[in-house]
Amino acid sequence: MLVFDMQVVDTKAIAQQANSSLQEAWHLGCTGRSVEALTLAGQILADATARGDDRLAAQCDTDIGWYCFQIGKAELGLTHVRRAVDFWKTNGEPRQEAYARAYFGWLLLELGLPEEAIEEATHALDLADKTADPKAQSLATNVIGIIFWYNKQPDRAILMSDRSVELARSIGDKTYECWWLINLGGAHSEAGYIAQALDQPEQGHQMLVRALELTEQALDIATETGDRWAARICLGNKAEFHSHLGEHDKALQCMVRYRLLQENSYVRDRQQYLYTLGQIYNNSGKFAEALAPLLEAVELIDDGGSFDSYIQIYLHLSQAYEGLGQFDPALAAHKKYHQAYLRNSAERTQQRARLAEIYYETKRFKEVAETETKRAETLEASYQKLQEQTDILASAVYVDPLTGLYNRKYLDSRFKELTSEKRPYSIAMLDVDHFKSVNDNFSHMIGDQVLSAIGTILRGQLRITDQAIRFGGEEFVVLLAGAPRGAADVCERLRLAVEQWVWSEICNGLHITISIGVAGTLSANSPNEILAIADQNLYAAKKSGRNRVVS
Ligand code: GH3
Ligand code: MG
Ligand code: MG
Repeated sequence: MLVFDMQVVDTKAIAQQANSSLQEAWHLGCTGRSVEALTLAGQILADATARGDDRLAAQCDTDIGWYCFQIGKAELGLTHVRRAVDFWKTNGEPRQEAYARAYFGWLLLELGLPEEAIEEATHALDLADKTADPKAQSLATNVIGIIFWYNKQPDRAILMSDRSVELARSIGDKTYECWWLINLGGAHSEAGYIAQALDQPEQGHQMLVRALELTEQALDIATETGDRWAARICLGNKAEFHSHLGEHDKALQCMVRYRLLQENSYVRDRQQYLYTLGQIYNNSGKFAEALAPLLEAVELIDDGGSFDSYIQIYLHLSQAYEGLGQFDPALAAHKKYHQAYLRNSAERTQQRARLAEIYYETKRFKEVAETETKRAETLEASYQKLQEQTDILASAVYVDPLTGLYNRKYLDSRFKELTSEKRPYSIAMLDVDHFKSVNDNFSHMIGDQVLSAIGTILRGQLRITDQAIRFGGEEFVVLLAGAPRGAADVCERLRLAVEQWVWSEICNGLHITISIGVAGTLSANSPNEILAIADQNLYAAKKSGRNRVVS
């Protein structure tokens, strides 16, 4: 009995200790020591997992996601927060789910996936509204604001960010108030840049001045709370805004203060400092001065940092060389920028595809779960259910197991429907180039993996109005809404996505391209006739060299 009591006390004490450590980690994260915060939260997570304290583990996972964001490891953060979202959802804790989903959305945006980000952020806001938790509301509203900002819709961004600042103030949360003010400033600067580009210098000026004011407010709070992470961002942003206003001395003054906060910062931070400095010199026409920090940033590339910094560094470097009239190195830097840019968009496609895969799995899971619940309902309902189950079963009959795409049988049933379709549509015929030699040179198994990856790419790339079908072997048919011109654009995107996919992940030396033929309702009436023309166009694409779209 005594032993039992002591165990109860011990467990409680351990849980309390862990909770206060987690708060300590949060404090580290709010005072510019995110790496330490991440390490501490990681230890608490490991302990919690070992003790089977899943709730605490989910709290750790949520916070870790945020620290990962702060130090530029968004992808790692995503895995943690995803786990947290699932836990809170399964255990019916909407308030916690709202936080986790909001951070999840933010990380998705950081990885260049705005559509998915907005879905998560609105879901988060919905949950936050339902639980009437102003702190969660303020976080979710802020994330939606940033999505608009990155999406170049500053008016909406300002509206949302303004609201998020107001909510943070209403609960006296200084840290959130400071962070959201930074974003409100950013949204104003975007409005300013757009106004400048539209030849409305006065409005542009006004917006940038407002952006400066807001950023200064944020900086004051960051100084007061000791948030060096936020202070660094404020100073970098302020320098950029001054520089755009032609206030070069003020911009440089900010950079001096920014430099003083550099100790203990991470590679990504240092790179950001250096390329911002280069950008500011470029803006004031001091290209020779810009060169030194930018070249120093190049030196740091091998030490890590984000892809975005890599792109920024080479972009500003090429501009500096160009300003100096040194066209050969300018071209070389621009090439690196362009290559990185292309690789970046290919990586984003792959991330999008991976995500599509997760959603695809979740959707199937949901269908099964719904089927289970409905089974328990009344007789009448269960009759209806039977009907639905038949539909689900029928849809399973329509799926090709290797690629997860629809199969030929499905195409046949769609062709029957399309015969009486009034709206314009297009059909694309895809064939993998030299696929026989993939089987011969690598193996049939690798060949199968290629087909499965193509299924993933198609699912990730297509609009919801379009459907991809495995026609047979290594040939695919895509049904696209709208006339062939738009369809050809979509197909070009598909072609490029396949070409840029990192095939070496499957097997070293593997390269895959596809050829596509497109036709639409303009050139014929029945789906079979359109398909035949698409096939002829595919033949033409093959004959004229492959890896192209003919429409
Ligand atoms: P191209 O289309 O560029 O003219 O050349 P190709 O080498 O791709 O020629 P073709 O389209 O005629 O080749 C189709 C090959 O695809 C033949 C067959 O061995 C292979 N294949 C068909 N179905 C499968 C499959 O399910 N798995 C694998 N690994 N190979 C398949
Ligand atoms: Mg073929
Ligand atoms: Mg082929």
